[in-house]
Amino acid sequence: MRKRVVILGSTGSIGTSALMVARQIPDRMEIVGLAAGTRVAELEEQAQEFGVDHLCIADASKKAPLSGPGRRVYSGEDGLTDLIEATRPDLVLVAIVGVAGLRPTLAAIELGCDIAVASKEILVMAGEVVMNAARKKGVAILPVDSEHNAIFQCLEGHKGSPEDVSRLIITASGGPFRTLPKEQLINVQVEDALKHPTWEMGQKITIDSATLFNKGLEMIEARWLFEIPMARIDVVVHPQSIVHSMVEFIDGSILAQLSTTDMCFPIQYAVVWPERLANKLKPLDFPSLGKLEFEAPRVDDFPAINLARQAGERGGTLPAVLNAANEVANEAFRNRSLSFPGIWEVVEETMARVEHVDSQELEVVVAADLDARRVAEQIFASK
Ligand code: NDP
Ligand code: MG
Repeated sequence: MRKRVVILGSTGSIGTSALMVARQIPDRMEIVGLAAGTRVAELEEQAQEFGVDHLCIADASKKAPLSGPGRRVYSGEDGLTDLIEATRPDLVLVAIVGVAGLRPTLAAIELGCDIAVASKEILVMAGEVVMNAARKKGVAILPVDSEHNAIFQCLEGHKGSPEDVSRLIITASGGPFRTLPKEQLINVQVEDALKHPTWEMGQKITIDSATLFNKGLEMIEARWLFEIPMARIDVVVHPQSIVHSMVEFIDGSILAQLSTTDMCFPIQYAVVWPERLANKLKPLDFPSLGKLEFEAPRVDDFPAINLARQAGERGGTLPAVLNAANEVANEAFRNRSLSFPGIWEVVEETMARVEHVDSQELEVVVAADLDARRVAEQIFASK
């Protein structure tokens, strides 16, 4: 089947990888809509290459250069939903940083589109709402995040009870400061944090990988995607990023998914699912890999994992608060207004200060998100 695909966030790291996949498998993937935030020239180039007439740009003032005969250009957050409504795709790839993709994702589910989700923030914030909506509509939520894609693949053949799964084991590269002594974390500069040892990604997620908030967000993401309690989600550091994650069953057997570090693997899998398709991606060569290493994460020196565990266990609005505070602190660090350890401090203090609501109703989590941003801004301004 050739799937009609809309990409939200097409000019970013995941978006451009998705277009690389589309170039490789044109018989299976037709791009029918593209959305970006600000990069008009790149969006125009993509539209021309893939012959796409439905485009969305977040910044309404940038609409004009994209218009042309036969073109429909949308803008703003409503524009993302308009784009999906106009194109009625089989699959929407959500690859926008942060929560901007949440409402369009819910709109796409209502229209019966399958969702390939890279934007972990929307599952962290409103995973319960998204998964319930998808179940009700009978649409698939296909994880693109490499760890969750790995777990999804490991679980696919399992015909027994969900209770047969004893543990999800999420692997983490450990980031650029895996071995840096705790007392030196205060000196970390933006440039150092942007040097990821194994993955090339957008700036926000690269900083999240350095603080380990990326792993924390992924634990909560897994909790909703696979409906498993936080207590059965573990993290292990695996510096080579070859084993993308694992599932342990009650009989002690563990299944893992491995590949070279290239996001085209999970993206292609989400697009051609439930089938498989040969491709030209680099295969794994075990003798040249030599060894795969595993170690415990430094949870006391990098508090993100424990904060996320706490948020995932409590549920309600706490994951949304953690996510929003982290977005504010991550950006403040990138703007050089906050120290590296300050990111954890802002998140922890925001989680303690914002009033908890034991609900994940959409309007409740959206309000908690806004509240947390305001509180996090105040906390970081006072530092
Ligand atoms: P990038 O920063 O590289 O790209 C973000 C994309 O979103 C850009 O195309 C940007 O457009 C677009 N965008 C931002 N705001 C809006 C908006 N309001 N409306 C429409 N488009 C918008 O991020 P990544 O690709 O790295 O990450 C995307 C998501 O995927 C994140 O949630 C991340 O956590 C997740 N992810 C990423 C991985 C990776 O390897 N990169 C791996 C796993 C998950 P523009 O640039 O034109 O402003
Ligand atoms: Mg990941």
